[in-house]
Amino acid sequence: MTTDGRSLRTRFGDRALLLESLLLSAPAALALLALVAAGRLGPAPALLGWLLALAAGGWLAYRRHRDLDGFAAWAEGLSSDQGQPAPSPGWSPLAGRLLRPLSELGRELRHRSGRMAAQRRMLRSTIEALPDPVLLVDGDLTVIQANAAAGRSFDAPAPPVPLVRVLRDPGVLAAVGTALSGNAASNVSFSPAHDRGKRFSARIEPVDLDDGRRGVLMAVREQTEQVMIERMRSDFVANASHEIRTPLASIQGMIETLRGAARHDPQAREMFLEIMGEEAARMSRLVDDLLSLSRLELAAHQPPRELCHPSEAVRYAVDRMWAAAEQGGVGLMVEVPDGLPAVRGDADQLHQLLVNLIDNAIKYGGRGTEVRIEAQELAAAPANSGPATGRPAVRIAIADQGPGIAAEHVPRLTERFYRVEGARSRGPKGTGLGLAIVKHVLRRHQGHLTIQSTPGEGSVFTVLLPLAAAEPSVTRLS
Ligand code: ADP
Repeated sequence: MTTDGRSLRTRFGDRALLLESLLLSAPAALALLALVAAGRLGPAPALLGWLLALAAGGWLAYRRHRDLDGFAAWAEGLSSDQGQPAPSPGWSPLAGRLLRPLSELGRELRHRSGRMAAQRRMLRSTIEALPDPVLLVDGDLTVIQANAAAGRSFDAPAPPVPLVRVLRDPGVLAAVGTALSGNAASNVSFSPAHDRGKRFSARIEPVDLDDGRRGVLMAVREQTEQVMIERMRSDFVANASHEIRTPLASIQGMIETLRGAARHDPQAREMFLEIMGEEAARMSRLVDDLLSLSRLELAAHQPPRELCHPSEAVRYAVDRMWAAAEQGGVGLMVEVPDGLPAVRGDADQLHQLLVNLIDNAIKYGGRGTEVRIEAQELAAAPANSGPATGRPAVRIAIADQGPGIAAEHVPRLTERFYRVEGARSRGPKGTGLGLAIVKHVLRRHQGHLTIQSTPGEGSVFTVLLPLAAAEPSVTRLS
């Protein structure tokens, strides 16, 4: 239906229009009837007069209906958010009075719905930007919103998608069901079906969706690293306690024997005291290594600032190990040019790194073998040299003629307390922390360790340290 003047039909209907026209013309009709009854007017002019009054009433009713139609259509447009301009007040005084409050109402409604749409957009983009996975699930267990982190973590198709296609964990599904039916929030941990090695925890919270229905917001956080760190920490404590308990138990046993059976045996006493001294020294080395590791971990994110000369560091370490090599019947061959370029490093830590590697080479090389220590400058560290790759560097290689290491052990040698089976008997003085310390020192110095070993022939431990001059220059503003 149209509301312009070209049609005399309105949405309120022809009957209503006719009825209103009759009502409007009723006073004139009554007056004309009275005049006819009083004999002052003939029936024909009276009929004509009434028809004129009816036409005028009809015209008035039509204008009023047309204006109201305009308002009705406009109000409908408001509710459906089409936002068309307010109609002109037309001729009807009622429409004129309604126009101002209705226009203000319309403006306010448009303003509010604009604000709500903006808030909805902001909420969506905030959820989208969160680094942790967030999922919004409706009462039919359909994921209706999921951010990019959720897509990445759960390999999930774009919403809407059934929750079971994203997460099939029974614990999660039960918690979502409880939140939907009982309104209770809960926390649940799970591993996704496509990657059992990962661990997540989810906060499952009932929420009101924008259509008034009940839904569930799942805020998920990956815990894989935390779980791994926790496991490593408890393994570490277990290993460290075990390493300390072994010499301690041996010392305690010997004290008992010295108090009892060997009380009056000077020879046994001498022997036990010597062993006790060795065990105590082993515990002390273990504590020293543990402290070194914890200091290295504390300084892990502070790159060393001082300049350190590799030739001097090697000389220092060789001097310290000379006596041990002689005692172990191992020859030390050193081929290190003087004046190798400086690296940025912590001298104490680099000494410890070299001492640990030379000590191992002597320990595991065995009597009658030779340990070669070589160093040279490289224009660019080869590929696969970790953070040193492609940078000018110093290469220090320590080669022994020991039993070598089977390939399957090589990747694990730098783990704390990792020892190759049977190595303990060859290296009773070891703490199992020497190579872990080497790894941490190199990590702090942006260096790299490679281990090449041929069982039966020996091993080469190669260290790469980037040169100080190779560091990218840093512009200081103050
Ligand atoms: P440890 O104190 O036991 O020597 P490390 O961390 O220094 O501990 O070394 C870990 C393990 O790596 C050793 O127990 C040994 O099995 C192996 N290993 C290290 N260096 C050598 C080497 N030069 N030759 C053979 N095996 C070695």
